[in-house]
Amino acid sequence: MSFLHSYDARTGQTLGAPIAASSQAEVDAAVQAAHAAFADWQHSDGPRRAALLEALAGQLEAQRAELVALADQETGLGAGRLNGELDRTCFQLRRFAQGVSQGSAFAFTDDPAVPGAPPQGHPAMMRVRVPLGPVAMFSASNFPFAFSVLGGDTASALAAGCPVVVKAHSGHLQLSLRVHALALQALASLGLPAGLIGLVRGAGNEIGRALVEHPLIAAGAFTGSTRGGAALLAAARQRARPIPFYGELGSINPVVATPEYLQAGGEALAQTLAASISLGCGQFCTNPGLLVFQRDPASSTFVARLQAALAAQQPHVMLTRGMREALDRGTEAQLAAGARALLHEPVDSLNPRPFLAEVDAPRFLASETLREEVFGPASLIVWTDSVAQTLEVLRAVGGSLTVTLWGVETDTPDHRRLVRGAMAIAGRVLFAGVPTGVAVTAAQQHGGPWPSSSEPMTTSVGDAALDRFLRPVALQDMPAWLTARQGQPC
Ligand code: NAP
Repeated sequence: MSFLHSYDARTGQTLGAPIAASSQAEVDAAVQAAHAAFADWQHSDGPRRAALLEALAGQLEAQRAELVALADQETGLGAGRLNGELDRTCFQLRRFAQGVSQGSAFAFTDDPAVPGAPPQGHPAMMRVRVPLGPVAMFSASNFPFAFSVLGGDTASALAAGCPVVVKAHSGHLQLSLRVHALALQALASLGLPAGLIGLVRGAGNEIGRALVEHPLIAAGAFTGSTRGGAALLAAARQRARPIPFYGELGSINPVVATPEYLQAGGEALAQTLAASISLGCGQFCTNPGLLVFQRDPASSTFVARLQAALAAQQPHVMLTRGMREALDRGTEAQLAAGARALLHEPVDSLNPRPFLAEVDAPRFLASETLREEVFGPASLIVWTDSVAQTLEVLRAVGGSLTVTLWGVETDTPDHRRLVRGAMAIAGRVLFAGVPTGVAVTAAQQHGGPWPSSSEPMTTSVGDAALDRFLRPVALQDMPAWLTARQGQPC
């Protein structure tokens, strides 16, 4: 039997007693229990699903002080941020509760019969959706509540009628176990089976892989690095029966700005951007890791302001020692690939200093290294000579959760090209503000082309996240009792 440890993010010391890793037999048992729970849950009605989601939110809120303290110890993210994240997690759970009680999971297309010969004439058709089945869920280190055991993927899967088996993140193991215990209490209080929300733990990659490869798992939902997501995506595709794998991955989130916009924004804009780069110690998938500026004295003045504003930031500790080391490797790799440091203060501490570097567009276009995510308070400026070159830079990025476009308020051919270029590679395009912060709402799209997501047609945040776990089925010439169910699975 192997054992896992939880660590205090600020001291690196182990926290609590060692935790036994799940065996292959335990993974199998968790998936079997989820499969058994699916038999009923798949045709549960909206109020039943809503009651569970509400109860889960209630548990998190009732134990807020204890959970936030534990999360803070394991992640170092601070009580302010973690309280806000817990609020957001409860909001997500309740939003899906409200949606499913209003019928979001049971939406259908009714297409009554049309008499006559085809193609105009056709039989009665009803397009409904059925839940996929047990979902293997992988949480991210940087969102111990909102993208973890009871995070968005769990909320949307349960609302869709799917059980989940969560692979606990090694970066907040104790918190994952505690939140799971609360989830089991919520299930018991409603007379629901424990198998609806399972949890497995593992060192290394074997447990995660075993989970995705289990024949009774119907889909994967992953939030984490592009490297980890790619490995599990490959495992999902190599199965005898491949399954959908919704990977929300790393992203460099270009910010493109005209010199005029930078000049008008001045000091306040520089402060806002510096705060976004170092928010949460830069550990956000929407962190602005790439700044694409056109050469101009106004742009240079802004960069000097940004450099000063960033130098004044005091990032807190990183989530794990491994991430702290990866940040140094990432910034060194950028410098080795030809970027020039503007702000680079190497320190031997778990708290990094912000990093800012610059590079010309041709070198950026020639180097894959410069297009890789550097997870932490770091950003790279790419200098371009023209709109055409800016578009080349965006094309080279290829896929991103966001692109921010500052200064395209008027309808001109160049601005249209920039908007087209941004929409071609991003799931979300912002025209004001900074990309950190993802609203949980109806029109949200959190997922862009590879390498930012494995399924860019779907979103992991917002109401449409539910759709990932539902598969359409067309009913043809169905009996009246089935029509009367109005999209509710039987
Ligand atoms: P990570 O290292 O990829 O870990 C995510 C989960 O996957 C963990 O449970 C990890 O296991 C597991 N895992 C990683 N590689 C694996 C492999 N090869 N086989 C099986 N399992 C594997 O990511 P992270 O460090 O938690 O999170 C930081 C990254 O997530 C950043 O790149 C950030 O941009 C991205 N992120 C993306 C989003 C988004 O919505 N797109 C949101 C937040 C974060 P262990 O627990 O054992 O390490």
